[in-house]
Amino acid sequence: MDMPTPGAARSFWLQEALTDDPGEPAPPLEQHLVADVCIVGGGFAGLWTAIQLTEREPGLRIALIEQDIAGGGASGRNGGFLSASWFDIDAYLGLFGEDAGLRYGHAQADAIDAIGAFVSDHGIDCWFHKDGTMGARTGDWQEGFGDGLTRFEQLGIADRVEVLSAEQTRARVDSPRFLGGVFFSDGAVCQPARLARGLRRVALERGVHLFERTRMTALERSRPAVVRTEHGAIKADRVVVTTGAWAADMTPFKRSFGVIADYVVATEPIPDLLEEIGWTSQVGVADGREWLYYLRRTDDGRIVIGGGAGAAVYGGRGGGRAATSARHYAEAPARGLLWMFPQLEGVRFTHAWGGPIDQTPTFVPFYRTLEPGNVHAGLGYSGHGLVQTYLGGHILASTVLDREDEWTTLPVNRPEIAMAPPEPLRYPLVRAAAFALEHGDARQDAGRSRGVVYDLVGDAPIRYRERLIRRGAQPQ
Ligand SMILES: Cc1cc2nc3c(=O)[nH]c(=O)nc-3n(C[C@H](O)[C@H](O)[C@H](O)COP(=O)(O)OP(=O)(O)OC[C@H]3O[C@@H](n4cnc5c(N)ncnc54)[C@H](O)[C@@H]3O)c2cc1C
Repeated sequence: MDMPTPGAARSFWLQEALTDDPGEPAPPLEQHLVADVCIVGGGFAGLWTAIQLTEREPGLRIALIEQDIAGGGASGRNGGFLSASWFDIDAYLGLFGEDAGLRYGHAQADAIDAIGAFVSDHGIDCWFHKDGTMGARTGDWQEGFGDGLTRFEQLGIADRVEVLSAEQTRARVDSPRFLGGVFFSDGAVCQPARLARGLRRVALERGVHLFERTRMTALERSRPAVVRTEHGAIKADRVVVTTGAWAADMTPFKRSFGVIADYVVATEPIPDLLEEIGWTSQVGVADGREWLYYLRRTDDGRIVIGGGAGAAVYGGRGGGRAATSARHYAEAPARGLLWMFPQLEGVRFTHAWGGPIDQTPTFVPFYRTLEPGNVHAGLGYSGHGLVQTYLGGHILASTVLDREDEWTTLPVNRPEIAMAPPEPLRYPLVRAAAFALEHGDARQDAGRSRGVVYDLVGDAPIRYRERLIRRGAQPQ
C-alpha cells in the first residue's frame, strides 16, 4: 500500500488549513500577566469557551495558552463529522433520565445548525456541509437499526432518521459491501482544522490574548489562581482547563478517562473516482463494525477515512501519540477503504496521522470545578467533540460567569459519572479491548465467528457502560 508513515507530522487538515491561511502569529508567553480568565488548551473546547465569553462579556481580559498551535491537538486531526449522536439517544435517556436525555439529543442537533450559522456569519470557510450522515452495514453480522424506528417514533424524533435498503444506501455512495443503512439528515461534515483556525481568528479579532507554543507547567489553585508556563505566568480569577486527552497527566483527572490513539488517512484527489462511486453529495459514512470505519469526502476531491483499529495510550503520555506500531494502525483504515471500494484499487494515500481520544467510561464528557472553586474543566469528549465542545464552550462560559442558564442546566454539566481504572491497570485493559475489537471484526469480516474471548474482552467496556446506563447518573 502506498502510504506515508504517520508520525509527528501535521494532519492533512492542518497542513491544508495553514497553507490556505497561516493566520496572524501568536507569540509564546514570556512575561507575567494578569487576566480575568485564563483558558488552557487551544482546541475546540478552549476556543469556543473564549468566544462565548467575549460574546457575553466583551470587556473581559481573556488569556488562552496552547502548548502547540491552536488546532494542533485532536481538534485539527479528527474525521470532521458533526453528529447529533441520535444513535446514542437511549444511552442519554438512561444516563440522564427521559426528558433530560432527550433535551441533550436536541441540544446537539441544534448545535450543528448553530455552528453552521456561526461559520457562515464569520466568514469561516471550513467546508461545512449539512448533507447528513449515514450508517452502513458492511456485513451480515453487523447490527442493523432493528426496531430503532419504533423507538424513535415513541420519542418523537422519527423525522431525524431514515432506514435505508441496500439499494438506497448504495444510491448515496456505491460500495458493493453496503447491505443497508440508516440516514441521519441533521448530520454534517467540515474541515476541522479550518474550523479551529477560523475560531482562532475570531477569538483574536475579539481581543483574546492568545499565546501559542506555551505549555502550562503548573497550576496553583489559589485565589486568584496562577498558571505557570516555561517562561512566564498568568494570574487569573478563573482558569478553564480544556486540555483534552493531555489532562490524563493532571492529578485530578488521572482516572477520568482512558486515552486511545485513533488514526486517519487521506487519499490523493480522486474526483473522477468519486463520481464513479456516486459519492456526489457530502454525506459522511460510518460502518457498523465494533471499531467502526468513518469516511467522508473533502472539498478538494479526496476521501478521508479513519478507524478500524486504534492504540491504547499509557496515562496521557505524549498526548496520545502512540508512536509504536503507528503504521499498523494507519494501515487499518487504508485497507478498509479498498475493501469497501474495490474500484479504488491503486489509489495513493498521501497523508496519514493519528490523534488522541479522551474516552470516558460513559462516552459522555464531564464538567468539574476544582477547589477552591475557580478552576473549571470540560473534558472527556470521547471522540464526539465537534458538536459537544460547542455546548461545552457555552457551559464553561456560563460557569465562569456564575450564571445558571439553559447551558448550565444541560444534564451533561456534571462531574464524571464513573471513573476509569487507574494506571498501570488501565493501559493493558484498554489495549486488550482494542486488540479484541480489531481482531473480532476481522474474523467476522472473514465469515468466521467472533470468538468467545474476543467477544468477552472487546465488549467489556461496552458492557460496563451499559451497566452505568442502567444505573443512571447517580453521584459518585
Ligand atoms: C482521529 C480522530 C478522529 C475523530 N473524529 C471525530 C469526528 O469525526 N467527529 C467528532 O465529533 N469528534 C471526533 N474526534 C474527537 C474530537 O476531535 C475531539 O473530541 C475534540 O477535538 C476535542 O476538543 P478539545 O478541545 O477537548 O481537545 P483538543 O483539540 O485535543 O485540544 C486540547 C489542546 O490542549 C493543548 N494542551 C494540552 N496540554 C496543554 C498544556 N499543559 N498547556 C497548554 N496547552 C495544552 C493541546 O495541545 C491541544 O491543542 C476525533 C478524534 C480523533 C483523534
